[in-house]
Amino acid sequence: MTIQWFPGHMTKARRQIEEKLKLIDVVIELLDARIPLSSRNPMVDEILHGKPRLVLLNKSDLADPKVTAEWVNYFADQGHPALPIDAASGTNVKEILPRVKQLWAHKIESQLRKGINPRAVRALIVGIPNVGKSTLINQLAGKKIAATGDKPGVTKGQQWIKVGTEMDLLDTPGILWPKFEDQMVGKRLAATGAIKEELLHLDEIALFVITYMVEQYGAGLQERFGGIELPEDMEDVQEMVKVMEAIGRKRGAIVSGGRVDLDKASLIIIRDLRAGKLGRISLEKP
Ligand code: GDP
Repeated sequence: MTIQWFPGHMTKARRQIEEKLKLIDVVIELLDARIPLSSRNPMVDEILHGKPRLVLLNKSDLADPKVTAEWVNYFADQGHPALPIDAASGTNVKEILPRVKQLWAHKIESQLRKGINPRAVRALIVGIPNVGKSTLINQLAGKKIAATGDKPGVTKGQQWIKVGTEMDLLDTPGILWPKFEDQMVGKRLAATGAIKEELLHLDEIALFVITYMVEQYGAGLQERFGGIELPEDMEDVQEMVKVMEAIGRKRGAIVSGGRVDLDKASLIIIRDLRAGKLGRISLEKP
């Protein structure tokens, strides 16, 4: 489900996260590996008040591994250790606990020095809707517990999930809002399914996807769709629409008279992208 964000919702979401922050040691910030910056909340640094933070690049199964590696370096340079994961299948999920412990190691050591038995590190997952928070909580819990599509404003008694004996995780994630202002960000969010596609025209999103793919993944596109012609001029919208039509034709988006239905072709392109059928595609580079 997609939340419609209004200033009141943002204030409430922020307040809810700040309440949870009082209880925890380390924040796990979940981003979409295909669009890490576009899927990041614009006020995250301010909201998290300098809590130790592990960045997870989720849905890395759908992202270009080369670009994801560049993003890991990018975040490391910014002082945030980052790890690509796939919460749905569980890839790299076992790496999360050691990384979280590293961020809390200084506290554990100081407790040990004082002769105190260190307690489990307490963590909270935060991220924008649809980035995979509930999926990750379920994966870490090893069972189905978190309701997917949790809404801001619905307060429940806080529950802790034991992740082994060394980490306690809050069972409800912190929900953050995405960026809205930038048109390109909006297109990336819509293409990956983070915001409702009704908010933008389908053909506009598909045109964005195809233009990016022609530019960055042209060879793969040609291989997948058997020798379609790719324009050289990335600004030439007419030529890009021809590429969309050629793909639509190959994928059966044809109306009577043999014409390609561009809306249908657009929907197919977006669905194929989200299902990974166009290959492992990143839509943003550092
Ligand atoms: P939330 O709103 O942040 O809690 O997001 P959900 O956990 O409900 O996930 C949103 C959608 O993304 C669901 O359809 C999940 O199955 C899917 N999803 C989550 N993690 C991954 C992943 O690592 N890879 C892929 N391909 N899909 C994922």
